[in-house]
Amino acid sequence: MENLIKRAARDIAESKYAVALTGAGISTESGIPDFRGPKGIWTTNREAEAKAYERYELFLRDPRAYWEEIVGSQGVYGKFREQIRRAQPNPGHRALAELETLGILKCVITQNIDALHKKAGNKKVLEYHGSVNAVRCVSCGSRFAWEEVSLDRIPPRCKCNGLLKDDVVHFKEPIPSDVMEESEKEALKCDLMLICGTSAVVYPFANLPRLARFRSRRLFAGLDMMAPRSNVRIIEVNAEPTPLTHEGISDYLIQGKTGEVLPRIVEEIRKGISL
Ligand code: NAD
Repeated sequence: MENLIKRAARDIAESKYAVALTGAGISTESGIPDFRGPKGIWTTNREAEAKAYERYELFLRDPRAYWEEIVGSQGVYGKFREQIRRAQPNPGHRALAELETLGILKCVITQNIDALHKKAGNKKVLEYHGSVNAVRCVSCGSRFAWEEVSLDRIPPRCKCNGLLKDDVVHFKEPIPSDVMEESEKEALKCDLMLICGTSAVVYPFANLPRLARFRSRRLFAGLDMMAPRSNVRIIEVNAEPTPLTHEGISDYLIQGKTGEVLPRIVEEIRKGISL
C-alpha cells in the first residue's frame, strides 16, 4: 500500500486540475453508516431499502403526508437526519480540505447529503444528491435554509408557488439540473479524479468517472469501443474493489480506509512541496 500512496501523491501533485468524487464511505468514520458496506443501513435493514425507493413516489402522490413524516421526524429517515446533524468531519474530509487549501483540489463532487465536506472547510462542493441542510423548490430550483421555511402550513410553497421539498434527492427523483451540469463539466475538465468511499453503483453519479475517462457525454452501450483518455488519472480509495476497478475505469485502487489513506497521501504531497 505504501507504494500506491506515494504513487497517488505524485500523480495528484503533478495534476493541473484535480477533482474528488466522494460517497458514503468517507463519512463512516464520522459515525454515519453507509448503505451497502458490511455495516450499511441497507445491509442490516432491508425494509429501510424498500422504504427509500418509495419516498419520492410518496412526495409526488401526497406531498402533505410526505411533509408530515418529515416534520414528525419519525422512522429510520428521521433518526438518520439527526445522526447527520451531530456528525463531525473526520481525517478523510480534512485531508480533502487541505488539498483544496494547497490549491491542488479544485472541486469536490459528493453523493453525501451530510454537508461534512463544507464543515471540514472545502469551499467548492457540488452536492449531487442534495443536502440535509437545505430545502428546494421543485419548480424553479431555488434553495433555502430550513430556518427560512415556515412549516406552519404543509406542504410549504416557494415564492413562485411551486412545491418545496427537502433538498435530499431520493431514488427515482431527477438530479437537479444545475448541479448535474456543473458536475459533468468538472468531470470533463479534470486531469485527475480521486474517488473516495463509493461503491460506484448509483447512477447517474457513477457515470462521472466514465465521462472523465472517455471525455464524452455519449455514455451508451458501445462506449468501450471508444478510445479512453490516457492523460486522465483516476484513483480509487475504497475499502473494497468496485465496478470501476473491475472495468479498468480507474487506474488503480488503494484499498483501505479513507480516514487513514487520504491523510497519508497529503502528508506525502507536503513532503514533496517542502523539498
Ligand atoms: P455505498 O454505501 O453504496 O458504498 C460505500 C462504499 O464505501 C462501500 O464500497 C464501502 O465498502 C466503502 N467504505 C465504507 N467505509 C469506508 C471507509 N472508511 N473507507 C473507505 N471505504 C469505505 O455508498 P455510495 O456509493 O455513496 O452510494 C450510496 C448513496 O446513499 C449515495 O447516493 C448517498 O447519497 C447516500 N448516502 C449518503 C450518506 C451520507 O451523506 N453520509 C450515507 C449513506 C448513504
